[in-house]
Amino acid sequence: MISEKMKGFVVNSSAIRAMFEEGKKMAAQYGAENVYDFSLGNPNVPAPREVAEAIRQVLDEEDPVLVHGYMNNSGYEDVREAVADSLNKKYGTRYGASNILMTVGAAGGMNVFFKTILNPGDEVITVSPYFGEYRSYVGNYDGKLVAVPAMPDTFQPDAEGIREAITERTRALILNSPNNPTGAVYTRESIEAVAAVLREAEERFGNPIYLFSDEPYREIAYDGIDVPWVPSMYADAIVGYSYSKSLSLPGERIGYLVIPSGIEGFEDFIAAANTANRILGFVNAPSLMQRAVAKCLDCSSDVGFYDANRRILTENLAAFGFTFVEPKGAFYLWIKSPEADEKAFVRKAKEERILIVPGSSFGCAGWVRLAYCVSRHTVEGALSGFAKLAGDYGLS
Ligand code: PLP
Repeated sequence: MISEKMKGFVVNSSAIRAMFEEGKKMAAQYGAENVYDFSLGNPNVPAPREVAEAIRQVLDEEDPVLVHGYMNNSGYEDVREAVADSLNKKYGTRYGASNILMTVGAAGGMNVFFKTILNPGDEVITVSPYFGEYRSYVGNYDGKLVAVPAMPDTFQPDAEGIREAITERTRALILNSPNNPTGAVYTRESIEAVAAVLREAEERFGNPIYLFSDEPYREIAYDGIDVPWVPSMYADAIVGYSYSKSLSLPGERIGYLVIPSGIEGFEDFIAAANTANRILGFVNAPSLMQRAVAKCLDCSSDVGFYDANRRILTENLAAFGFTFVEPKGAFYLWIKSPEADEKAFVRKAKEERILIVPGSSFGCAGWVRLAYCVSRHTVEGALSGFAKLAGDYGLS
């Protein structure tokens, strides 16, 4: 018999995955080339060639006992050093190996973070719409996720709304920029405003409120937009990074946490996070991938491909009369549903063999998310269906 708590997780288990399964069924029925599946953030641009080369090099040239062995739970010292050096070059910081904890992707890093800080009943604030798994990651440790709606239109975080949501039980705030699902990139000003609210609340309640900056899309940003380094604006910030999107390696489960030395309770935090990584059963991040990504720190998959998809979609959907948030980063388009019930719109889109995800999966009804990390065929093939939908709704 499964636990009561797990029953809840199963019931709420991601509608996005359900949609993905639906896509596979439709592909079998209509032929894969006739189904336009924008449901999942699974990068379709291949990992850069350097990744395969690095894996081969590790296997051919490094000591197999080292490559496949147990290690410090934080990860290989030299890999963490290399990650720290690369961040220092980019952001003018002074991190060392002790500030980096290699993780099993962003999901692993967030679970380590919440296990480290949460007592049952503690609260974690996030900005809605948000990546739906946050609710489960916080719930794993009996925390409570509190969603504060983003600013209408811009989808930047609402510092005043966050101020009102903070209580004595607030332990952390999650920010995610570039954002899934809106494609918004948070400006320096909006992060500064949130940081000021958090600092004031830390003082008022006399305990740290950590800012968890969830950044799997950090490198996926367009038109040279600034993606600010959050710890330079707030002392108690921790960054969660993943190679799932930037190097197209979601199945490899590799990422890291940046835990700056200046955060409140640094030594205890590091000891607890290390232990969390072990006792959650990760033990350490995958060893071969740690060694491989350390050789690819300056590589990136072809962001230009996503950018071209973005342009095709935004130009056409605007011409058809759809309202959406102009995406500045990540590979998602956040579209206003032409009818109040966005699930009905999702069903109508399915009749055109277009798969998109209802905004309620992200805590924000009335909108839908389209993931454009898909082939050009999918993007172009879906346009006539979108034109038909626009006509049916009388948008154009
Ligand atoms: N955070 C956000 C905002 C995401 O979109 C995702 C994956 O889609 C994750 C975290 C989890 O990423 P990972 O595959 O690295 O665990």
